[in-house]
Formats: sequence, structure tokens, C-alpha cells
Amino acid sequence: MAEAKASKKPRAKTYTGGCLCGAVRFRVTGVPFYVSHCHCGMCRKASGAPVVTFTRFPLDGFSFTKGKPKEYSSLPKNQRGFCAKCGGQIYFKAGRKPDSIGLNVGCFDAPEKLTPTSHIYIDTMIPWLHMRDGLPRHKDHG
Ligand SMILES: [Zn+2]
Ligand SMILES: [Zn+2]
Repeated sequence: MAEAKASKKPRAKTYTGGCLCGAVRFRVTGVPFYVSHCHCGMCRKASGAPVVTFTRFPLDGFSFTKGKPKEYSSLPKNQRGFCAKCGGQIYFKAGRKPDSIGLNVGCFDAPEKLTPTSHIYIDTMIPWLHMRDGLPRHKDHG
């Protein structure tokens, strides 16, 4: 793991969240790598929403405190975790980032504490969606 430079290193915090029905609950402690609005077609189909805002945390700070999601592989090395009871989408594990976990910000109990930092897969953003927030926009995963 790369060490954070300089003095502005944010402090690790603990966050909690879960699915709609409460069958799956999680806790994560750490500093998120980023919080992104993902405009890719797979997140869209998986969630049914025009955009999915997710954050990526170091995996070692993450644990389930209740239940465990089912997984769906949207691509061979990727897994999307969702509650088998209510269908709520909770996480995204990417094969190319095995030491981290992507968590849907909407699942957090206090989503307002995770402020977006970028847009990714901007080329597939739905044209009627207007998000003029001045955040960096990336064509790929950023
Ligand atoms: Zn559920
Ligand atoms: Zn996506």
C-alpha cells in the first residue's frame, strides 16, 4: 500500500450501513479512496437507477455485522453483492482491485458523510441527467 504523503492525511472513520430490509448490515473503518458517481451501463442495470454513487474502501476495514449478500458476477472477475431478501445492492468487488471494496453510498446510514469526488464512465451518462457539480469527469474508472 502506498503511504499517504504530507500532513493532510484524513483520519480513518467508522461507517455503518445495510440493505433496505436490514437482513444485511456492514461496518467499515478507514479512509475512502474516492467517492464516485458511476455512469456505466452495468451499475445502471444492477441498480435500476440512472447513476450509482459508490465509494471504495480498503478491504481490511470492512466486515459484515449481520447476514451476508448473495453475489452476482457482472464480469468474470467482478462480484456485485446484494441482499437475497430485498435485492438491495451493497457492494462491488473488482478483480483488478482485490484489496478494496466498492460500497454503494446509498446503503450507508449517513450517506451525507461521503462526499463525491468524481464522475466515472462519463461517456455513458444519460443525456437528461444534469450534474453540474464541477467534479472531475473520467471516461473510464478514473
Ligand atoms: Zn435486504
Ligand atoms: Zn459502474
